[in-house]
Amino acid sequence: MARVALVTGGQRGIGAAISKALQGAGRTVVASYAGNDAAAAAFTEETGIRCVKFDVSDFAGCQAAVAKIEAEVGPIEILVNNAGITRDAMMRKLTRDMWDAVIDTNLGGCYNLCKSVWDGMSARKFGRIVNIGSINGQAGQLGQVNYAAAKSGIHGFTKALAQEGARASITVNAIAPGYVDTEMVRAVPADVLEKIIARIPRGRLGKAEDIARGVLFLTADDADFITGSTLSINGGQHMY
Ligand code: NDP
Repeated sequence: MARVALVTGGQRGIGAAISKALQGAGRTVVASYAGNDAAAAAFTEETGIRCVKFDVSDFAGCQAAVAKIEAEVGPIEILVNNAGITRDAMMRKLTRDMWDAVIDTNLGGCYNLCKSVWDGMSARKFGRIVNIGSINGQAGQLGQVNYAAAKSGIHGFTKALAQEGARASITVNAIAPGYVDTEMVRAVPADVLEKIIARIPRGRLGKAEDIARGVLFLTADDADFITGSTLSINGGQHMY
């Protein structure tokens, strides 16, 4: 039977490319999203992939959603924690609400979903978890104290959970994308983006498919010996 994969934020941007790639690899994919019903409907229409709406920052909501997916589709064996948001501001203007929203969604969401699938994966002795971090969690970024903290947290979270899962054949890895051409990056002012691209050795923004390629690699059944790793997919930017 096809393995079931849950991709959070899986109906647009990087997540949509991940969902499609996993579907192409023969997985049964469920994509979650927060509120963009139009994007979800269009994505299901295009791909046939089922979309479910729940907030990754809501623990009870994640538990209920996972239970429903597992009852109706099958046990989740592949989890991609991709949902994320930015609320950028310099410290002077960074409010407590902006801090909480980014930590609760990007990092809290990772905990909420891992916790919800963990007992099942442990009992079945198989799991593939990929957490989407960021180059800005590795290097920091001006105006992103909240986002860098959340993404940096994901990298530590990944290494700690990988140690817990290893004996049960659950691998836990992270991908640290560089700048990828999605709506999130299109919100960056043009002059700032120009400077960012100048620092990318490949001389271009990433494509969502560049990140999906890494997810396919890390979630393959025979990727069993790769755990606790962070894969940098950023056109070489991490070297600068
Ligand atoms: P987008 O803004 O294009 O899409 C974000 C997705 O996450 C949407 O599907 C959105 O759902 C979902 N989402 C947001 N908040 C929640 C929530 N509280 N609960 C459930 N789902 C939620 O983002 P990208 O595709 O650009 O980014 C995907 C991931 O990659 C993020 O974790 C991001 O931090 C990371 N990343 C992105 C980079 C980039 O350059 N784009 C670089 C490095 C990392 P909805 O459509 O309903 O709003």
